[in-house]
Amino acid sequence: MSYTAETKPHAVFTPYPLQGHINPLFKLAKLLYLKGFHITFVHTEYNYRRFLKSKGPDALDELPDFRFETIPDGLPPSDGDVSQDIPSLCDSLRKNFLQPFRDLLARLNRSATTPPVTCLVSDCFVTFPIQAAHELGIPVLLLSPLSAAAFWGFMHYRTLVDRGIIPLKEESYLTNGYLDTKVDCIPGLQNYRLKDLPDFLRTTDPNDFMLHFFIEVAEKVPSASAVAFNTFHELERDAINALPSMFPSLYSIGPFPSFLDQSPHKQVPSLGSNLWKEDTGCLDWLESKEPRSVVYVNFGSITVMSAEQLLEFAWGLANSKKPFLWIIRPDLVIGGSVILSSEFVNETRDRSLIASWCPQEQVLNHPSIGVFLTHCGWNSTTESICAGVPMLCWPFFADQPTNCRYICNEWEIGMEIDTNAKREDLEKLVNELMVGEKGKKMGQKTMELKKKAEEETRPGGGSYMNLDKLIKEVLLKQT
Ligand code: UDP
Repeated sequence: MSYTAETKPHAVFTPYPLQGHINPLFKLAKLLYLKGFHITFVHTEYNYRRFLKSKGPDALDELPDFRFETIPDGLPPSDGDVSQDIPSLCDSLRKNFLQPFRDLLARLNRSATTPPVTCLVSDCFVTFPIQAAHELGIPVLLLSPLSAAAFWGFMHYRTLVDRGIIPLKEESYLTNGYLDTKVDCIPGLQNYRLKDLPDFLRTTDPNDFMLHFFIEVAEKVPSASAVAFNTFHELERDAINALPSMFPSLYSIGPFPSFLDQSPHKQVPSLGSNLWKEDTGCLDWLESKEPRSVVYVNFGSITVMSAEQLLEFAWGLANSKKPFLWIIRPDLVIGGSVILSSEFVNETRDRSLIASWCPQEQVLNHPSIGVFLTHCGWNSTTESICAGVPMLCWPFFADQPTNCRYICNEWEIGMEIDTNAKREDLEKLVNELMVGEKGKKMGQKTMELKKKAEEETRPGGGSYMNLDKLIKEVLLKQT
């Protein structure tokens, strides 16, 4: 598609202000940019400051048709990372974002240097743009940064409440096997147990804020013009087939890492969306390692653990005798800084590298990586599939249990580690996945999924065509 400056469609993006939500929206923004759209990407002021800082003083090379704007997050100033307080952020999204966003849209529409705003693209948990789009009479797309199954689980919290399944009757239900109950009221999620669904339902409080936040979101989603997913049909056939019963206008357009790796999308601007400064030295270190020999360990942007859990991971890795690259965010350990003993450091010095943030997709695609020890965020999951790397799963919260079920039970490309696993368990699983027969099979299956992802996202593939349809049927449509 080619447009003149005046006729260019203009999409305004509003991610949920967390790294794992920003990344998929940013990737879709890049894809639309390549399709000829003018892009405005809206960060919170707080995240934009971090974004700029992560790039260094002169690195933000804005393109004329890919611009950034900010709105305040409405939260009080804080010394720590405000995005870690998820309930406060969700509450502020509901109360404080709409008016500054309206003002921003009005300013963009008055501007002589940008084309008028023609559509909005928002995170599926950020619903204030739906109202703004209706006021302007333009389409609004919601992008789910989650799997279709996890999104579908969230959309059924109300059904589970109505059936008396949640909130839990008492605290003991968290540990007495109740969470193993099969859930038979969510079409498309056959044989799912309560514990496989996004875990905000694990509450005994009928007034739980997050439970009600998601119920409220689910009520608003159908009034968007369409919902899109960073997934593909083959990956989530049952969930994707079930979703149209609630949302007729649906598009699976992923996985984005594979999409952006295909010609003609390779010409995409190299600008990344990380809020942390990346340590690219990891890539040099990986160069010195044998193919498929390294365990890559990264728990994403918000997972935290106790000092005891960290210690078990450390010694499990050390005792596995495999080289490992471990990304330890400064705030990974609850209530304190990370302390690793000199004994551990001496033991692993020759075969380990620890960094605080890395360019994950480049790392995963390095031939030295053999296994990914992950918390199973949906981005990490799809990035690992697109790189053909099997996973060791340590799901922490939110949609991660659902993704872990997919990885271990349905696609059989990984193994789960218990929340309180000991060093012996980790050592055994690392070795099983790196050199055992099971691991070999899982590696092959991951490669098969990688190939399918590539087929879906190349010209003529399902996701490729869905993106074109989405643009034509939704984003360029006058409401
Ligand atoms: N990421 C990265 N470098 C790191 C850690 C994470 O680039 O050291 C990126 C990763 O590639 C992914 C995102 O941050 O795109 C994390 O999203 P995910 O859904 O996996 O987990 P979350 O952080 O939301 O828990």
